[in-house]
Amino acid sequence: NVRYKWKLEGFEEQWNGPTSVREAIYSKLPHGNYTLKVMVTNDDGTWQPQHKSLRINIAPPFWKTPLAYILYGLILIGLILLNMHYYHIIIQERHATEKQQFFISIAHDLRTPLSLIKLPVEKMVEEGGKSESEERNLNLVKRNVDRLTNMVNQLLDFQKADLQKMQLQVEKTQLSDFITERLESFSPLAAEKQIRVSTQLTEDDESIWLDRSKMEKVLFNLLSNAFKYTPSGGTIKIQTEFTTRHAIINVIDSGEGIPTNQQKNIFQRYYRASNAINSKEVGSGVGLMLSKQLVELHKGKISFKSEFGKGSTFTVKLPLGDKLFTAEEIRHFDAEENALTPIYPGTAVPLSLNTSGPKLLLVEDNPELLDNLAIELSNQYQVLKAADGEEGFKLATEQMPDIIVSDVMMPKMNGHQLCVKIKDELSTCHIPIVLLTALDSPEYKREGLEHGADAYLEKPFDIKLLRVQIANLLNNRQLLKRKFLEPSTRVDEVTTNRTDQVFLEQIKAFVISNIDSEKLTVENTAKELGMSRPVLYRKIKSMTDVSPQQFLMTIKLQEAARIMKEEGKNISETAYMIGFTDPKYFSQTFKKYFGVTPSQYLRG
Ligand code: ADP
Repeated sequence: NVRYKWKLEGFEEQWNGPTSVREAIYSKLPHGNYTLKVMVTNDDGTWQPQHKSLRINIAPPFWKTPLAYILYGLILIGLILLNMHYYHIIIQERHATEKQQFFISIAHDLRTPLSLIKLPVEKMVEEGGKSESEERNLNLVKRNVDRLTNMVNQLLDFQKADLQKMQLQVEKTQLSDFITERLESFSPLAAEKQIRVSTQLTEDDESIWLDRSKMEKVLFNLLSNAFKYTPSGGTIKIQTEFTTRHAIINVIDSGEGIPTNQQKNIFQRYYRASNAINSKEVGSGVGLMLSKQLVELHKGKISFKSEFGKGSTFTVKLPLGDKLFTAEEIRHFDAEENALTPIYPGTAVPLSLNTSGPKLLLVEDNPELLDNLAIELSNQYQVLKAADGEEGFKLATEQMPDIIVSDVMMPKMNGHQLCVKIKDELSTCHIPIVLLTALDSPEYKREGLEHGADAYLEKPFDIKLLRVQIANLLNNRQLLKRKFLEPSTRVDEVTTNRTDQVFLEQIKAFVISNIDSEKLTVENTAKELGMSRPVLYRKIKSMTDVSPQQFLMTIKLQEAARIMKEEGKNISETAYMIGFTDPKYFSQTFKKYFGVTPSQYLRG
């Protein structure tokens, strides 16, 4: 007869029951503290005043414990930090590209005016008849221009190093000669500063492999530092020695030395120690850092010892042999040569030019450089001037120059875009292009060449080199033109690009399929190719120097030569096959075009 009432405090407000069942079931109770209270009646059914309590504690699952929450907190903070870190990296990358753009544009801005100074100064230095003081001043200007150029180059190099774009091209080098040659350019400086330079070079057997232009930068930097930070009357010594596995180069100066507490920083970018800051010497603080990277690229080490007020010794330690370099890093000579004149192989001899001169289109956005170059080149060429790519392209299509020399960085249409347009256009694609640029990395060079440039020169360029380059390209074109008019010439031998190749194949096919017909006229050829007569005329004239009429006849006669040689037909058969009614007249025409009669041709 006993009955119960119960309540789970912390879970419910009301009492349950009364019931005589002695069981209460709770499932899925949230974790927490509860008290189960139970009341009972006695046998008579009267409720007892006291009740019994049972405290129940349900523990939270592990993922709801305070520790878990701390963990969640930590993970969240971690995620936020990670996010911030990545965000930081992205921002840094963006800054790096912006910085690169900045460097490139500064370098460009500096190099063009530098070229403008360099060009006339070099000319003035070469010209005689100057007084001693003029000569001295001029040399001073020249030396400083060279120094500035060097510094700009160093900044660009440093930028490249920063982007890890540097590629090594090592070649076997005789170290002592290499050093002696580089040292020579410092002799005017040594004389000016009254510094005694001595060498102690160990004979070597060409067992060292260097990227000469890169190691030259290292050497120049160490030497110019030695000169910069050694006062008048001091000494500089260059020493080499060989161990079984290494070559060691020491550049020792008796200069001012580097304060001990700053020595650990000097390989850092933009770092200049107090000795440099207090001196009158200009510097950017990137030279040593670049040198370090370049030496490490060679798998070598650079170190120094310096005593403040007494002097410094910089030591470069380079491994011997070529085992540490990959196949790509070892320089192959023809690759370099091809990079300069990629399309025309073979040896080029400067062309002797006629009085009126070939037409040269100059595209450059800096008006001074444009004028200056135009004046320089106008004694050999008929120079056409354009201030940007757009104007250049217009002039090229109107005037059909024999060669184009163009700057790369220009407003409206840059040099690469101009290159692509010229090489895409049938009427102009055979015209060789020389690009001039302030960016001297292989990447940019490759980019230029991929856009179809025939040669690439870095600013500030040597005007003599530009002349030779132009002459070579024109000479190659001249050889091609001559080759066009030989009896047996394949299309691919006389074209330098796909567009021209297709163009010639089309003309050839048209000539061959109408070889004995009256339909073979310039008019019909133009129609077949979908070109106007004047455009066809200009293209053929500029490509081959002959009129379209003569050109069609040349192809016809080349086909005749093929028929005789390959199909074994005799002269009169051939003459009839190609639409000549008189074999004698055929022979005369053949001789007029190719300089030999058909029978001489067959014999030769
Ligand atoms: P900078 O353009 O200032 O010469 P570098 O990176 O070439 O920059 O050199 C970094 C610093 O190392 C210099 O500013 C100078 O304080 C110190 N230093 C380098 N070479 C020498 C040296 N031969 N004698 C004294 N100090 C030197």
